Amino acid sequence: MSFIVDNLKEVNEKIAQACERSGRNRDEVTLISVSKTKPVSMLMEAYDAGVRIFGENKVQELVEKYEQMPKDIHWHMIGHLQRNKVKYIIDKVDLIHSVDTLQLAEEISKQAVKHNVTANILIEINIGDEESKFGIKPDDVFKFVEDVYKMPNVSVKGLMCVAPYTENSEENRKFFKKMYELCVDIKERMGDNNKVNILSMGMTGDYQVAIEEGATMIRVGTGIFGERDYSKK
Ligand SMILES: *Cc1c(COP(=O)(O)O)cnc(C)c1O
Repeated sequence: MSFIVDNLKEVNEKIAQACERSGRNRDEVTLISVSKTKPVSMLMEAYDAGVRIFGENKVQELVEKYEQMPKDIHWHMIGHLQRNKVKYIIDKVDLIHSVDTLQLAEEISKQAVKHNVTANILIEINIGDEESKFGIKPDDVFKFVEDVYKMPNVSVKGLMCVAPYTENSEENRKFFKKMYELCVDIKERMGDNNKVNILSMGMTGDYQVAIEEGATMIRVGTGIFGERDYSKK
C-alpha cells in the first residue's frame, strides 16, 4: 500500500478523534489535501483513494494540474493571489481561501461577472499579527465583509488563517479560539445573512487543535503527501 493511502487513513482517524473529543460530527469538518509542489502522479494516488478536494497555492501549478486531472475534482486556491492572475482560475476553483485586500476582492468580483460565475471566497486573517504573513487585522474584518457584500458575483463564505509556525500546537489554540469568535461576531452583525459558515484553519502541525476549536476546513499537506522539497525544479 502506498504511503499516501496510509497517511490519509491516519489523518482521517485523527480528524475523527478530534471531532469525538470536542463533541462534533465528523461531517462538519472538510479535509483539503494540499498538494502544492507534488507531482500529478501523487495527486492521482490520493484521487484513487477517494480524495476529491485539492488545495494549491500557485496559479500556474493549479491550472496545470486542473488540466491534467479528472473533472470531478474540487480545486481550492489557498495561497497568496495576485490580482493579475485571478482571471486564470476564476472558473476553475470552488473556493479562494486567501482574500486579503479589497482590491483583490474587486478583481475577483470583476472576473466573476465577466465569466458569469459566483466566486466563493474566504477572508484571510493575520491572526498572529505576524509581519511575514498575509491577511487583514481581526479588527478590520467587519468593515471588509461589509464592503465585499456590495460587490457583485462574490460571496463571502467565511474566514481563513495560517497560524504561526510552532512545534507545540497547543500554542495556537488561542488563535483558533479568536478566529471562531470573529466568525460568530460576523454572523451576528450580518443578521439574517448567515452564509459565513466556513472556518478554514489548521495544517499538519495543528489541525487537531483547530478542529477542537471549531475549524470546518483543515488544510493538510505534509501529513498526506510527505515533506515538500523546494530545492529541485
Ligand atoms: C502549504 C500550506 C498548507 C499545508 O501545510 P502543511 O503544514 O504541509 O500541512 C496549508 N495552508 C496553506 C495556506 C499552505 O500554504
